[in-house]
Amino acid sequence: MNTAQALELVHNYGCRVFEAEHFVYKSGMHGPAYINVDPVLYKPSAIEAIAKLLAEPYLPFADDEIEVVADPAVGAIPFGHDTAQALTQGYQPYYKMMYDYQSAKRTFGVLHVFAEKHKQPDGSETFQLDRTGFAEVCKGKNVLVVEDILNSGTSTRGVIECVRAAGGIVIGVSCFVNRGGVTAESLSVNQLNAIIDINMVQYEASGCPLCQSNVPIVADAALGKGSDFAEKHPDYVGGFKYLLD
Ligand SMILES: [Zn+2]
Repeated sequence: MNTAQALELVHNYGCRVFEAEHFVYKSGMHGPAYINVDPVLYKPSAIEAIAKLLAEPYLPFADDEIEVVADPAVGAIPFGHDTAQALTQGYQPYYKMMYDYQSAKRTFGVLHVFAEKHKQPDGSETFQLDRTGFAEVCKGKNVLVVEDILNSGTSTRGVIECVRAAGGIVIGVSCFVNRGGVTAESLSVNQLNAIIDINMVQYEASGCPLCQSNVPIVADAALGKGSDFAEKHPDYVGGFKYLLD
């Protein structure tokens, strides 16, 4: 599936993509494009369908089949959870994941863990597998890291680091939307798959060429921080516009 097909698919789930406009992002940066994936988050059927696509590149059964899915809390959790389930269903014909023949016990298929963010005294952030047993299940296992949105890749890198620290082998990263032009290399993994791959250029507010050209700012409350900008800078020369009904 290419990005255009994926965009058409997620549009049906209420996911909206805008281009050639002027947005203020949650980070405070400005840019011409916006993708709002929130409407898929409250639709489990949409998450399930997307998770099947996240699992797909990792389904061919080989020595590096995925044993654990890991993701950063909280937005990526439903995607990771359903990806683990999709992998389990995909591996079922091979039985290896489902049965331990030596003990003849049923096992639990592909497992799912999430890492939680910790703010450090110096302001930086790290991720840790805090919950009971989460670090242990990664030890010596093939792990797929799942992400909802890749911006700079900071959270993803944090999860990769804590999985490796727990002794897990990170096989790859699968994400719903890569909007930061993040590469496998920059994440230090061999494989990165994105269902939607759109590189959204971002500018510091102070040097934004769209502001300099007086392009109206999108001020819908559901589309970034344009509404906050409108409150703080009501006399912005380019004015404001609304894209949602
Ligand atoms: Zn701007």
